[in-house]
Amino acid sequence: MAEKKREISFKGIATSPGVAHGPAFLYLNKDLEIPTYRISDSTISLEKERFAQALVQTRQQLTAIRADIAAKLGEKEAEIFDAHLLVLEDEALISETLREMEQSKYNIEICFRKVFRRYIDFFSQLDDEYLRERALDVKDVGRRVLRNLIGDAGLNQNLLTESHVLVVDDLTPSETANLDKKKIIAIVTNAGGKTSHSAIMARSLGFPAVAGIGDISDFVENDDVLLVDGFEGLVIIHPSEATLLRYGKIELERKNIEKIFRSSIHLESKMLDGRPFCLQANIDDVSDIPAVLESGAEGVGLLRTENIFLKRESFPDEEEQFEIYREIAEKLKPYSVTIRTLDIGGDKNVTDSRFRFEETNPFLGERGIRLCLSHPDLFKKQLRAILRASAFGNIQIMYPMISSLNEVLAANRLLEECRQELLNEGKTFSSGMKIGVMIEVPSAVLIADTLAQYCDFFSIGSNDLIQYILAVDRLNSRVAHLYSPTHPAVVKAFNMIMDAAKRSDTPVSICGEVAADPIYTAYLYGAGVTSLSTSPRALPEKKYLMRSLSSADLEKLCSEIAEVPDQDKLIDTLQAFYDKTIDRIMSH
Ligand code: PEP
Ligand code: MG
Repeated sequence: MAEKKREISFKGIATSPGVAHGPAFLYLNKDLEIPTYRISDSTISLEKERFAQALVQTRQQLTAIRADIAAKLGEKEAEIFDAHLLVLEDEALISETLREMEQSKYNIEICFRKVFRRYIDFFSQLDDEYLRERALDVKDVGRRVLRNLIGDAGLNQNLLTESHVLVVDDLTPSETANLDKKKIIAIVTNAGGKTSHSAIMARSLGFPAVAGIGDISDFVENDDVLLVDGFEGLVIIHPSEATLLRYGKIELERKNIEKIFRSSIHLESKMLDGRPFCLQANIDDVSDIPAVLESGAEGVGLLRTENIFLKRESFPDEEEQFEIYREIAEKLKPYSVTIRTLDIGGDKNVTDSRFRFEETNPFLGERGIRLCLSHPDLFKKQLRAILRASAFGNIQIMYPMISSLNEVLAANRLLEECRQELLNEGKTFSSGMKIGVMIEVPSAVLIADTLAQYCDFFSIGSNDLIQYILAVDRLNSRVAHLYSPTHPAVVKAFNMIMDAAKRSDTPVSICGEVAADPIYTAYLYGAGVTSLSTSPRALPEKKYLMRSLSSADLEKLCSEIAEVPDQDKLIDTLQAFYDKTIDRIMSH
């Protein structure tokens, strides 16, 4: 009889809701551990044979990836892999590796790494941009060959024949975006936090996820059964029958509650006393539109356009962007779609080497509007595409990472230049497109009164605002316990934004993850936020909640909060208010 394995529970950070249960698939992308050993004359031929096999295997993998990308995204996108295949055919790279091995008498992995690193250094120092980019190709292919030599397959979902729970050190946003829902049902990461862009993407793609779980990968083997609870941040290895039964019941209850919440999605967004509220969706691309329509959202409060760029090997040109923005605006008409201009940098790295920098502090570096203003050609292509799309629906634009008025003025100048160009070319656009500023940097809070004079609306990016106010890296699980939306400094900043907005009659939306958590919903509207924007999946509950409250309830909550002395008590007060409201709803 097979040995019954003991159930082990791990607690991490709940980053994306949902429960999933299935076999583990480990992908540990720590720095490759390259074995180092001496070889003798008699084993040289064996090493050569291993090298030849690894090259053939790499060629087969790259050819398969190329075909897959060509089918999914088109020939043009697949061309990058032609360059990768060419690297494999480089006679000099191969013969230099073999020579290095024969002379040094070290194993083939070490020799190959030494030679391909020399190539990377050589290419990256060239003046010619095209040749410089070859350094990235050599790096990619080199790592793949090394993985094959070591017997490490990388994140290859194609090998999976059934649904698995992915267990990984960390995932980049683009790796998350490329996960195949038929193969991966949940994500468990050793690193990461709730507001990392991978976590946000996991939520919008609907993968239950738990992050910051430390060293779980040391305890899990491939195909061990895992239960992932993305609500509580729990991962259970070898769950017992009793645990599965308990979760089955909880799941059923959750499904019933969800059904109740969904019953109001097409009803009016009005509170008991008739006061309106607005709920909008955060999206990444055209493919999210059905989820928006099903959620009852009144438009899009944040289109993270960088995700359109991150998914592709090369940047979409003006025409391609125009088609995407137009389709979204047309399909969501008459609701508004707030298009955020490109926000790359930080943890959002594109593959294009022109916009991929080695920075010591990327979140304090050339990110968001800073990068766009230093690359006006790139920025203007996007502004032109947005302006042209504005003729087909109700589009608003907003700038991320604003830290000074000068940035708003510079961005608006480029926008005006684009308007003039389009007028000269006889192309149409809406003359009334609203312009918003994201408030996500402390300096923007301090100058909110001034910024309000130069924009039509604010959108609070709480994910970044909290990280910058509290000096807590939003990706770092070691300091995740310090990341607190209820810290008095955050509350104070929030009040300052709301006061400046009230003085200038500026509408305020909030599109960071605070908008996703239902315990903050009543408080945020009570404080005067006009619209909450978050993942479409999180909207039905908020609508149901708000429809069961009145303005008097919000006022009472806000005056109670004003008396609360510290961040823990504030959380407790919000949680108690939420629990009471839910109990009331469920008892009817
Ligand atoms: C934010 O910072 O809250 C935000 C919405 O932007 P992002 O998460 O994309 O940085
Ligand atoms: Mg942000």
